[in-house]
Amino acid sequence: MAQNNELTTSCCIAGGGPAGMMLGFLLARAGIDVIVLEKHADFFRDFRGDTIHPSTFQLMFELDLLEEFLKVPHQEIETFSAVFNNEPVQIANFRHLNVVKPALGLMPQWDFLKFLQKQAERYPTFRLVMNAEVTGVISGNGRINGVTVSRADGENRVLANLVVAADGRRSILREKANLKVISSGVPIDVLWFRVSRLGNDPAQILGRFNAGRIMVMLDRNDYWQCAYIIKKGGDEHIRQQGIQMFRHDIELVAPFLAGRLEEVRSWDDIKLLTVDVDHLETWYTSGLLCIGDAAHAMSPVGGVGINLAIQDAVAAANMLHKSFKEQGLIEADLLRAVQKRRSFPTRFIQQLQILLHNKVIQVHLTDKMNTKPPIFMRLLNAFPILQRLPARVLGVGVRPEHIHTPDTASGTK
Ligand SMILES: Cc1cc2nc3c(=O)[nH]c(=O)nc-3n(C[C@H](O)[C@H](O)[C@H](O)COP(=O)(O)OP(=O)(O)OC[C@H]3O[C@@H](n4cnc5c(N)ncnc54)[C@H](O)[C@@H]3O)c2cc1C
Repeated sequence: MAQNNELTTSCCIAGGGPAGMMLGFLLARAGIDVIVLEKHADFFRDFRGDTIHPSTFQLMFELDLLEEFLKVPHQEIETFSAVFNNEPVQIANFRHLNVVKPALGLMPQWDFLKFLQKQAERYPTFRLVMNAEVTGVISGNGRINGVTVSRADGENRVLANLVVAADGRRSILREKANLKVISSGVPIDVLWFRVSRLGNDPAQILGRFNAGRIMVMLDRNDYWQCAYIIKKGGDEHIRQQGIQMFRHDIELVAPFLAGRLEEVRSWDDIKLLTVDVDHLETWYTSGLLCIGDAAHAMSPVGGVGINLAIQDAVAAANMLHKSFKEQGLIEADLLRAVQKRRSFPTRFIQQLQILLHNKVIQVHLTDKMNTKPPIFMRLLNAFPILQRLPARVLGVGVRPEHIHTPDTASGTK
């Protein structure tokens, strides 16, 4: 940080996740001075989703970066299946989407964020500060003018024309700004652990339903990142039953892992990730805008939160970049317009997640004898043409955004 521990910028973004890094990149690309503050030392944390949506490939194409992006190691899947009692049920087919790459990508999120960082750092107005934890807001004259930041060298300040809270579902900024959070209530949590992957294992399986148990498995080449879905608050009970019983449950839901589950040595190898679905009544206050999970925490169900975070960032950049250039300060009317544009797409998807929590996941977790997929999944499997609809919702979402910000490097408008 600067010597007097104070920096000034046009836009200060708290959080270097998908929303914060995408917004930082787009604003810097448009010639706007931007600082992204990330509390961790790197992007290398494993409790992130890996999905790259068809809409994100499309954005990379519009940014003229698709070719380079596709060089980052990743997998592409054209259909989305769940496995019920060892029988695959195909529920989405991305092949018919009207986008440049009609497939769902799977790329460790740290690689995706590093790619955005590399692109953003081509622009001199971009600054990313790692190990910088935002701790509060600086207010004055009826608006938020910056943030306080805790770093190894002590307390710092960043003053900005606009502060963007992209600090995720536990956002400190939305709390400090007293923005009202409306929680939707979620019946599930996730136990997150890894097991080695062997060459003859089944291909990427996004959801396995078996004997009242549910697990999502992400193929990360030499290991499976496993997300075992449990009833909310059920973690303590599972731990009390012992690690051996836990391994037995995992073997029931993914029998091919038998013989490898000793790798999960103790509860230290298993992280509890609590799941929330909530939204802010108002995404902004004078001088502050919330985007991504800070504005609307998403459940992992359907793997759509990253898409929404990125789409929020694109919409915010499209709607705000001119005002940064022309007026400096961003007025509340514009922030309201960002919420208005993004509110429906996020609330629509959240309502679908809540429906799936209650009508599919909770039902399956409660009824251990139920081995059949729900009727809508059976219909999707039986009539493939119907699979275009979930592909559209999961892969692109509602009201997809497109790049309308200029590139100062190429002089495009
Ligand atoms: C278990 C689980 C699995 C999921 N899997 C998927 C999936 O496969 N696909 C999908 O699309 N979605 C998934 N989601 C949802 C998805 O993770 C979120 O919707 C998405 O990450 C939101 O992006 P974001 O940038 O808004 O926030 P985040 O990704 O949460 O990023 C916020 C960033 O801010 C940083 N930060 C936090 N506080 C501060 C602070 N005070 N100062 C500075 N920095 C701070 C954090 O370190 C982080 O880097 C999953 C969610 C969960 C809980």
